[in-house]
Amino acid sequence: MRRGANRWKAPIFKTCPECDSRIPSHIACPSCGYYAGRKVLEVDAF
Ligand SMILES: [Zn+2]
Repeated sequence: MRRGANRWKAPIFKTCPECDSRIPSHIACPSCGYYAGRKVLEVDAF
């Protein structure tokens, strides 16, 4: 009955090509708003 210790897989991180932040894959970069080479979030620029 000892199961489930490895159920949770660690999220895969990738590096944002726009700002080099480490971000989880499959989400838009919270720093620059880019995802898959396209800007998909509006992020306030400094
Ligand atoms: Zn970014």
